[in-house]
Amino acid sequence: MQALSPEIIFRGINSWEKALPEIQKFTRCPLLLGRSESTSNLRNKLFLDLKKNNLEVYSANLKFDCCYEDISEIKNFILKNNCDSIIAAGGGKVLDAGKFIAESLSIPVITVPLSASTCAGWTSLSNIYSSNGQFIEDIKLRTCPKILVFDHEFIKSAPRRTLASGIADALAKWYESSLTSSRVDDGLVQQAIQISRVLRDQLIINAEKAYINQSNENISWINTIEGCALTAGLIGGLGGEKCRTAAAHAIHNSITQISSRKKFLHGEIVGVGILLQLKLEEMVTGNKLANQSIKQLTSLMIKLNLPTTISELGINVFDKNNLEIISEFACREKSEIHFLPFEISKQDIVDTIKSFEQQKIKI
Ligand SMILES: [Zn+2]
Repeated sequence: MQALSPEIIFRGINSWEKALPEIQKFTRCPLLLGRSESTSNLRNKLFLDLKKNNLEVYSANLKFDCCYEDISEIKNFILKNNCDSIIAAGGGKVLDAGKFIAESLSIPVITVPLSASTCAGWTSLSNIYSSNGQFIEDIKLRTCPKILVFDHEFIKSAPRRTLASGIADALAKWYESSLTSSRVDDGLVQQAIQISRVLRDQLIINAEKAYINQSNENISWINTIEGCALTAGLIGGLGGEKCRTAAAHAIHNSITQISSRKKFLHGEIVGVGILLQLKLEEMVTGNKLANQSIKQLTSLMIKLNLPTTISELGINVFDKNNLEIISEFACREKSEIHFLPFEISKQDIVDTIKSFEQQKIKI
């Protein structure tokens, strides 16, 4: 079973207004789900718009993350108030929680991304974290959202940092899937990988221009936000399970196991994961092109103010047993790292990270 895409997609300026009559067709009593304080004004507007359209709308916020504690609290709230759909408005954590809860209660979900930081508005996956942000598992859902509303005005109001994070996460599609699925002879998977290559090329061309000027008049910005939030999701839908994540996400998941004072966005950590995956490739397989890719990506990431080392994520890998925690989690049995087409040991991860962080310190 493969969930290709949301049933209906609204994208562009005024998408939210255009979506409202469609939303009204299948819900009377939606729950508007959000999280961050920074989007509360925008969510108030959505709440009032839904009310004006004669919907009996409720609202609730995640307290922590897309975690089982929040999920069960929101589920109880929905059951108590007889809500018949979820409208998840926010970043990846909110969208993932909304999709997961809706599926477990067999009600439809509408995703309204409020930044371009993620393709979670499109996909049939939910990443589950602990209440303090440690990655636990990803859950494959049966369907993609009923409606995706990608309103460019909402995305424009998001902090620049979320765009940079979305770019890093979308770039990972190519670097991971081209490695893990290069031997798959399924045509759809091959096509998905080719789309991820075109997406990478477009992002490399447009990312900096998009980052500097977030405007509806800037075609680089439009192509970039849609690439991050829509095309990246399409690649996952088309490629399905065989178009897999690999070391970049495995390293992201491992880094979240260590608590750091400053919170980083998903894509910000994945970006460092891509560089480390390339370093692994270089060290374990002797691939010289990987080093060129590291240089090319690092220069782009610096322009986007993205972290390029684990130490820039506020974690000293040489401290305590941090290297042990990262390598242990990255190599655990269920880890995506085993989708790499070459064998990886804990020692490989330790050696790669040590060499990478030391090399960076020298620069
Ligand atoms: Zn990701």
